[in-house]
Amino acid sequence: MAAMTLVCVPILVDEVHVALSLAEHARLAGADLVEYRIDHLFHGEGDEEGEAGTLRLAAESPLPCIITCRPVSEGGDYDGDDAARISLYQRLAASKKPPRYIDVEHSTLARSANLRQKVHLAVEHDDQPRSLSTSLILSAHDFESRPRDLLQRLSAMRGESAARVLKLAWMARSVRDNLELFDILQERDRPTIALAMGKHGLMSRVLAAKFGGFLTFASLQPTTVTAPGQTTVAQLLETYRFRSIDRQTRVFGVMGHPVSHSLSPDVHNAGFASLEGAAGNAVYLPLPTAPGWESFKATMHALVDYEALDFGGASVTLPHKENALRFAKENGWKVEPAAERAGAANTLARDWASGGWFAANTDLRAIVECVRSRVGSNLAGKKIAVIGAGGAARGAAAGLADAGASVTIHNRTRARAENLAAELAEGTTAPGSIAAAEMDSLADSGAAVFINCTSLGMRHGPAESAMAFDPRELQGAEDAVVFDTVYTPLETPLLRAAREAGLARIDGAEMFVRQAAAQFEMFSGAEAPRGLFDQVVREALGRLT
Ligand code: NAP
Repeated sequence: MAAMTLVCVPILVDEVHVALSLAEHARLAGADLVEYRIDHLFHGEGDEEGEAGTLRLAAESPLPCIITCRPVSEGGDYDGDDAARISLYQRLAASKKPPRYIDVEHSTLARSANLRQKVHLAVEHDDQPRSLSTSLILSAHDFESRPRDLLQRLSAMRGESAARVLKLAWMARSVRDNLELFDILQERDRPTIALAMGKHGLMSRVLAAKFGGFLTFASLQPTTVTAPGQTTVAQLLETYRFRSIDRQTRVFGVMGHPVSHSLSPDVHNAGFASLEGAAGNAVYLPLPTAPGWESFKATMHALVDYEALDFGGASVTLPHKENALRFAKENGWKVEPAAERAGAANTLARDWASGGWFAANTDLRAIVECVRSRVGSNLAGKKIAVIGAGGAARGAAAGLADAGASVTIHNRTRARAENLAAELAEGTTAPGSIAAAEMDSLADSGAAVFINCTSLGMRHGPAESAMAFDPRELQGAEDAVVFDTVYTPLETPLLRAAREAGLARIDGAEMFVRQAAAQFEMFSGAEAPRGLFDQVVREALGRLT
């Protein structure tokens, strides 16, 4: 059986007792190992206090530990001389309770035969005559990007026989950078750590377990991260279910820019966790993808073509929904009529049975489902006012007209409403109708449902406290339903006013849950746990208020 990938919490040590207490927290949180970064504690030659503190860390650590004194040249804070820190490692190894590992940079060993020899004397290896229990992690970091001499560097590191573990970490510039790290893990000749830093590197940290990495790093709290892009132990173990990731785990994610605040990872990972057996063996990750067609295309190709990844599909959000549809068409994938109609796809998924891929738009079906849940399944002739003329409005108008409704599009810029209505009406055999109308005709439009598809009222949006219209001013509309697609906050100014007017309401969270549920069913082939999704989304949104 493959060795389990360890979870290691890095701790920047200022005070020894605090570091030991953090290590105990790490143990309780489920970590296997801690790394004490002593570059603040130990200041070089003659620093007896720093040395005693380091010996105490190793002796009293509640978890097996790595001791690392990272020099400034490798992104750390140690500016003393190399000989002093290597001498400290020697004394640590010879102490009564030595650390399990020390981490020394490959560049340090490559620089000096003398230092290399001293490090050899401090660690266990095949030619070590002494009985030592500290092993060497040989590391290389690049905080800018993938090192240009990566392959030579890796080969030189592999030539270092005293190293029990190799560690490579570099700043990822895109999600694609993770894949080369997975190559390195799959071709390893000994336990290897290969991690990408930065927001694009999360995939390498979570999937270290899939590709047999020796360990992954995770922090205790979001604020204690020692490398950008690190996840917390709780996220790693609970949200991403790190302990159950194995070679067969399927990978999904959300592509967009930005995606760091997306609710989709919480929702889909909870969904997979609720499934039994192979269907539940999946993980869902944020996949930040820079704006622009080229970036989307390159990322999608890389993920789909990397067979060992078992990539099963993506939710696609702003600004890539049109790119997702274009990608599906250019690659001859099946395109669901809803995506074609909306001119955008929010889902790209693999059909595991045929191996083929398809594009879908579950926003559109979610909007129709939301409306049907309030006014009944027969929408024939039902008057529906759609406010806005962007992507969400296009999906709503098309979906509802196709279901038979009589849709009017109201938009600040009237010409955009006219154009959208004309475009959607052209060449369609939809049973319903689509027309454009003035914003100020909303109040007496007699619509049964009013759907806000603008960003008005959205937290951190251009007009947080605004609403597209005032539901309290609707004429003869006691039975009207007010539907806001915006879901941050959960109760937008529009929905608050609708509540005050005593009108029925649909919030953006309900739409989000319905679109996610339809997506999940495409990804997993299993029925979505809608109640659970609703709970996860509302709890997450509630935490924001
Ligand atoms: P979009 O393409 O950028 O369209 C924005 C629309 O809002 C345009 O019609 C624009 O009118 C209008 N608008 C913007 N600022 C305005 C203002 N100050 N006054 C009046 N109108 C204004 O956006 P989108 O992609 O369609 O998304 C719209 C909303 O849908 C988002 O805020 C998002 O929260 C929501 N959404 C929700 C879900 C869900 O699952 N719940 C899914 C997708 C989208 P002009 O044409 O005059 O500029």
